[in-house]
Amino acid sequence: MSETQEKAPSGRHQNPNTQAVRVAFNPLRPTEKPQEFYDGIKQKFAEARDVRISYRPDGRAQYTSDLTGELAKYEVDPWVETIEERAAINDTVECLFIGGGFSALLTAARLREKGVESIRIVERGGDVGGTWYWNRYPGAACDVSAYDYLPLLDELNHVPKSFFAKGPEIFAHCQAIAHKYNLYELAVFQTTVTSTVWDEKAKLWRVSTDRGDTLSARFVICANGTLSKPKLSKIDGMETFKGHSFHTSRFDYAYCGADLSNLKDKVVGIIGTGASAVQIIPRLGRAAKELYVFQRTPSAIDIRDDIPTDPDWAASLKPGWQKERIRKHVETTAPGFGLTEAQKLDLAALPREEKIRRQENQNIEHQMRIHARVDAIVKDKATAEALKPWYMHRCKRPCYDDEYLPAFNLPNVHLVDTNGKGVTQINEKGVMFEGREYPVDVLIYATGFEVQVTGIYNDIRGENGLSLNDKYAEGMRTVFGIHSSGYPNLFIMGGYQASFQFNLTFMLQTQGQHIAECIKYVRDSNYVAIDASPETEEWWVQEVIRHRGKTNRNAECTPGYYNFEGESNRRQDGNYNGGMLQYCNQMADVQKDLQKHFRFC
Ligand SMILES: Cc1cc2nc3c(=O)[nH]c(=O)nc-3n(C[C@H](O)[C@H](O)[C@H](O)COP(=O)(O)OP(=O)(O)OC[C@H]3O[C@@H](n4cnc5c(N)ncnc54)[C@H](O)[C@@H]3O)c2cc1C
Repeated sequence: MSETQEKAPSGRHQNPNTQAVRVAFNPLRPTEKPQEFYDGIKQKFAEARDVRISYRPDGRAQYTSDLTGELAKYEVDPWVETIEERAAINDTVECLFIGGGFSALLTAARLREKGVESIRIVERGGDVGGTWYWNRYPGAACDVSAYDYLPLLDELNHVPKSFFAKGPEIFAHCQAIAHKYNLYELAVFQTTVTSTVWDEKAKLWRVSTDRGDTLSARFVICANGTLSKPKLSKIDGMETFKGHSFHTSRFDYAYCGADLSNLKDKVVGIIGTGASAVQIIPRLGRAAKELYVFQRTPSAIDIRDDIPTDPDWAASLKPGWQKERIRKHVETTAPGFGLTEAQKLDLAALPREEKIRRQENQNIEHQMRIHARVDAIVKDKATAEALKPWYMHRCKRPCYDDEYLPAFNLPNVHLVDTNGKGVTQINEKGVMFEGREYPVDVLIYATGFEVQVTGIYNDIRGENGLSLNDKYAEGMRTVFGIHSSGYPNLFIMGGYQASFQFNLTFMLQTQGQHIAECIKYVRDSNYVAIDASPETEEWWVQEVIRHRGKTNRNAECTPGYYNFEGESNRRQDGNYNGGMLQYCNQMADVQKDLQKHFRFC
């Protein structure tokens, strides 16, 4: 696919891989418009970014995820009625997962296939599911193809009901995985791991929890999630608000009503217009008496065009269809795929600056199409202007929704555009912005999550009692984002130094397979522990550094969670940018010679 499409060809939805990548840039396509056009827009992008940074130069520090004291209510689990009483557990298992989302489930499935019986999930929530346990807000759904996103579809013989599966279906799929692989038996819910300490003598991890447990495990897998700890913007006066308030990942149906009908006489405010808010706002708009949407930076809203799964297509799928689909995706999205030899030569001959220029220009064309879509849908001109994203595609997570923009045509939905400033004050009645008060009955924080942090709620200590955070103080050091030398038998999923994928489960499945291979090798070889060698760790850190220079995303993008809110950070403290195929290939190479890359005992 060489450029973006307003109307996708019919029949594309369920054909493997025709839709996995919605936007691809073709460096062989010369720029169409005069360069001044693109330069002018790039200048506006830079200005919009500078405005954002000028208001909040404090990067990630502008948020808090320390939800204690007055803020503790924003993290309370609304999906359990009571905390179940139970005696503290004090036993040993072979594999212990911290977290019960897709990372844990798909890795546990691979471990079961390799004969591992003793598997425990320890999960803060009341069930498995992770993201899909917590995020049950109205409209919750995946924003990549469900046929790719939901793992283990072959194994569970399940075909999602629609191209973008809804939250409840995804949550049910997580539960089905846990049942199929018998993961409930040893699972411990409503329990938060607070410390994970390596016992050098016993070669076991000692895991403590907030329920007084002392759990021991040969292997620990940190599957705590990439976006699982809610965060709030630090806004003056937020604790003084006398109305009702909650975070999107703890959606309060008791207050709103299961069908949101309790909101019909309520004035609702929502702070944030990121991916969760985009899914929620149309539903709130239809239900609330008045809805005020407080926006700092607009999301880019592309076509969703969801359709139910064609039953004939589903029936035609052969066993192994999902594996094949994923294999194809990795292959077809690798750089240079599908090019003729002549095109490859043309590409190789293009100077780097020209490649970047073309890529940026096509990116700008894409964003201008997003702007045109806003103009075509949103009737009020000032509102339409405010909803246009002034940054490159993928500086923030792109959203796909057909109801979000029309919601702003409803008479009761009001956009309060803060022009990059963000809400700065909350008082007992509601939100204050530039001298105007917006009284609300309920305030919903759509302010996102901590991103890709290893060991949330948890203190991880490896050899010599060294805390992982202290080790990382001089810069992250891992192999594939998974192993860190001095932390034997510890595996990290979804953290930095791994490949970043728009469909995260592509990456998590790769990691899960690798972890299962490592554990199998240790067991089969009668070892008790595996630890990354310092040399291999250094090699991977250098690989990450080498590839991170490829983009100026941090410097040029509008602040957001993809670029550490605009903070400048060390090159090793982010994702591996060498591409998914290369990540998989490097991992396969390492697996072929584990003895060389790891220390065993
Ligand atoms: C609203 C939303 C929509 C998303 N949509 C998509 C999408 O469409 N496509 C996509 O690719 N990705 C999406 N993501 C990203 C999503 O998080 C991943 O796709 C995936 O579900 C992550 O799985 P995980 O198991 O790594 O983490 P999670 O699903 O976050 O699970 C981690 C679990 O660990 C638990 N935990 C953490 N620390 C501890 C501790 N110390 N003790 C005990 N338990 C702990 C948490 O409670 C959590 O349940 C979305 C994220 C959100 C928030």
